[in-house]
Amino acid sequence: MTHPLDYNPEAIRAEHVSVRSRVEAYLKQIEQHKSLNAFIHVFAGSALKQADTLDDKIRQGTQTGKLAGMVIAVKDNIAVKDATLTCGSKMLENYISPYAATVIERLLAEDAIIIGKTNLDEFAMGSSNENSYFGAVKNPHDTGRVPGGSSGGSAVAVAAGMCDAALGSDTGGSIRQPASFTGTIGLKPGYGRVSRYGLVAFASSLDQIGVFSRTPSVAAQTLAVIAGADKRDSTCADEDVPDYHARLNPSMKDITLGIPEEYFQDGLDGDIRNGVRSLIDKMREAGARVREIALPMTEYAIAIYYIIATAEASSNLARFDGVRYGFRAEDPGDLNEMYAQTRAVGFGEEVRRRIMLGTYVLSAGYYDAYYRKALQVRRKLKEDFDNAFEHCDLIVSPTTPTPAFALGEKADDPLAMYLQDIYTVSANLAGIPAISVPAGTSNGLPYGMQLQAAPFNEQKLLNAAQFIHSLNLT
Ligand code: GLN
Repeated sequence: MTHPLDYNPEAIRAEHVSVRSRVEAYLKQIEQHKSLNAFIHVFAGSALKQADTLDDKIRQGTQTGKLAGMVIAVKDNIAVKDATLTCGSKMLENYISPYAATVIERLLAEDAIIIGKTNLDEFAMGSSNENSYFGAVKNPHDTGRVPGGSSGGSAVAVAAGMCDAALGSDTGGSIRQPASFTGTIGLKPGYGRVSRYGLVAFASSLDQIGVFSRTPSVAAQTLAVIAGADKRDSTCADEDVPDYHARLNPSMKDITLGIPEEYFQDGLDGDIRNGVRSLIDKMREAGARVREIALPMTEYAIAIYYIIATAEASSNLARFDGVRYGFRAEDPGDLNEMYAQTRAVGFGEEVRRRIMLGTYVLSAGYYDAYYRKALQVRRKLKEDFDNAFEHCDLIVSPTTPTPAFALGEKADDPLAMYLQDIYTVSANLAGIPAISVPAGTSNGLPYGMQLQAAPFNEQKLLNAAQFIHSLNLT
């Protein structure tokens, strides 16, 4: 599917299309689709101003950046200077960030336009975007359904044509699952590929910033700009950043696909199973080799993810205490009551549940039984992947067991919600890159194929995405 606003830097530089006209067209889309609730804040004024400055530069023949005129939306847990940084929480409802995330500085330095901040599950905890203090986000393919989460606003902003690309964050699937539900491409880079400086931490050993787009080409261009070492994030690796876009190569020759049986078990929607299988056949016909691989630790992935993620979250969210940031409860009796009331009122139910779970698994009596054990199993799971990548280039599976579910359907059942992440959390636990690419529809609802690769092999993911994209499946 081609969109009238497909990003074409040559056309922009040749003045065939003005940056202002692109920003105006996107602002119009945002206005028209307001009821989807994808944005928390729209930067109409500053985006238009940025566009005019850029159009002037182009007219004068001044050199412009690599992403000149690309319009990007940003999940509201990534810091943009002097803009809100709500994290979808009452706790930070009125908080303004005094600085910009590294990824934002890099995008702006290449002349991308930031059009606004997108809605999300509170502190990126959730799989449906129903946990936002600013209300649920709706799926444009069926407004009675969720867009997935936690980066639901970013996914919808891209799916409904409100921007060229959007940044999200992925701790256990929060880019790939909403990408699958909305028919967009969602790329989670491997751990250390992209700086986390300026991303509000959920679980620091799992979090990565990544990209939503309608085309592999836009994802490749964006990743090339945001990736790479950052002295402000010591976990960000000092590895070369390839020109992902120039090297996009849809050829399936010499690619070995690994198919993990563990990802095709009970609970997987029949249409998705068949669709993913037939797409694997198409990749084979195009020259790929296909082989079965084993990822035996998969059955423990959800359990260890929800121990490690909640443990880290309970520690990371300790800073929201009514003293340093944002919201403070009114009229507390004393200091302790102020902390307690601030956190009881400022955080929503899911965030409080996770803080309690995390505090529990880290407490003296349970640390060994839960947290330490989870770390040990995490290592074993990582070894599964190391072994698998000795025999294949890409691990192929569905992204989610089902297409988008109805609003409210799982809201009262945290366990059912957690099972949404069954295919996605492993990549974060192992620190590897993964992508979701639209692969078909089930009863009219999109679903994605997930591809996972060895560390720093984002190029292979983008190449395969390019192949799949060229099949025009959706
Ligand atoms: N849905 C998962 C969770 O609720 C993943 C969230 C994420 O990746 N930020 O924790």
